[in-house]
Amino acid sequence: MNLRTFTGGGFGENGYLVACERSGAAVAVDPGAAAGLMADTITSEGLDLQAILLTHAHLDHVEGVHLVRAVAPEAPIWLHPADHGLYDSLQDQAEMFGLQVPPQPPPDDAFEHGQRFTFGSCAFEVRHAPGHSPGHVILVAEGQGFALVGDVIFQASIGRTDLPGGDFYTLMRSIREQVLTLPNETVLHSGHGPSTTVGFERVGNPFLIPHYRGEMA
Ligand SMILES: [Zn+2]
Ligand SMILES: [Zn+2]
Repeated sequence: MNLRTFTGGGFGENGYLVACERSGAAVAVDPGAAAGLMADTITSEGLDLQAILLTHAHLDHVEGVHLVRAVAPEAPIWLHPADHGLYDSLQDQAEMFGLQVPPQPPPDDAFEHGQRFTFGSCAFEVRHAPGHSPGHVILVAEGQGFALVGDVIFQASIGRTDLPGGDFYTLMRSIREQVLTLPNETVLHSGHGPSTTVGFERVGNPFLIPHYRGEMA
């Protein structure tokens, strides 16, 4: 798999374009403020965009869905059903931050925990990891040593849980059961900030380690 990051906007959101090299099949993950550039790349490289995958439905992760859809009208939008409420209330989310967001096309397909999502000869394992939002999923790339973790965990930090539908203890359980169960060398590509690894976070994330009164004590 070939992974490229598209970062932009006031939230510094990371969107990802993942191409399955052998087949030219690709997916767009969390097209946010830099989705225009992502769409241009899909067009200029003639990628066969097979889906738009949303880790969750916060405004900064979905505000560019329409731009990617415009260059790939057949690509279905995948979202976990528990985040449909958030997706439907995009305008309320925008108001909360004093922002404007264009209306977005509705989701077409529903992620399920444990699902194997395939594109070309590549695959993601879908893991439901609620807490930051009720329907957050992480996408573990099969045989590639990386995972797209959205806003569940960041380098030395974790997702906020004060937004509607967020819950701190649910998030900690998701991190313990869905993230820290991956091999230490797994690279985590987050929704904001730099990438990290499971091994680094296991011993260096102040929210997780007992030394700093983290939850995993
Ligand atoms: Zn979020
Ligand atoms: Zn975010």
